[in-house]
Amino acid sequence: MDELKKIKEEVLACRKCPLSRYRKENGYCPVIGEGSHSADIIFIGEAPGLNEAKTGRPFCGAAGRVLDELLASIGIERSDIYITNLLKDRPPENRNPKPEEIEACTPYLDKQIKAIKPKVVCTLGNFSTSYIFEKYGLKDEIRGISKIKGRMFKTDSFVLIPLYHPAVAVYNANMKEALKRDFKILKKFLS
Ligand code: URA
Repeated sequence: MDELKKIKEEVLACRKCPLSRYRKENGYCPVIGEGSHSADIIFIGEAPGLNEAKTGRPFCGAAGRVLDELLASIGIERSDIYITNLLKDRPPENRNPKPEEIEACTPYLDKQIKAIKPKVVCTLGNFSTSYIFEKYGLKDEIRGISKIKGRMFKTDSFVLIPLYHPAVAVYNANMKEALKRDFKILKKFLS
């Protein structure tokens, strides 16, 4: 079986944290990820919101529309990349992920990264950035996202580019322009 399909089956069967029960009680879907299985670039958000949990698709609400605009500004289509999240299930009321939820869920993200073997990983916001920095030997470089966003960090496996989460620009045009400037760094990886 395709490795990403296997990961999907594992997430569907997962009972490691209470978010899977919350998903079932509310008739939500897990949000595994979407896009090219041989993508050079993976984007990692935080966790599904309500729209995502209803549809099973990452970034399909307001933050997703910002993400689409940012991708379009550098000529990238969603089908060129892979988009996933740190957590595969929606936390109640969109609260922050808890450490034990991150611990339970990130083995799936780790496997997704190993299966896709991207050249570039873009983390969106503080939670996915801290996780990937720590996991890939950059713990000493962890700062708040505003200090490190838009910079390139080399790991043994890929180039890591932390970015602001697109949700910061949902109601703030200035942040959208800042994000657009940061996204330009990705252009060089397109070919
Ligand atoms: N925010 C995220 O971090 N991920 C999504 O999929 C949607 C909103």
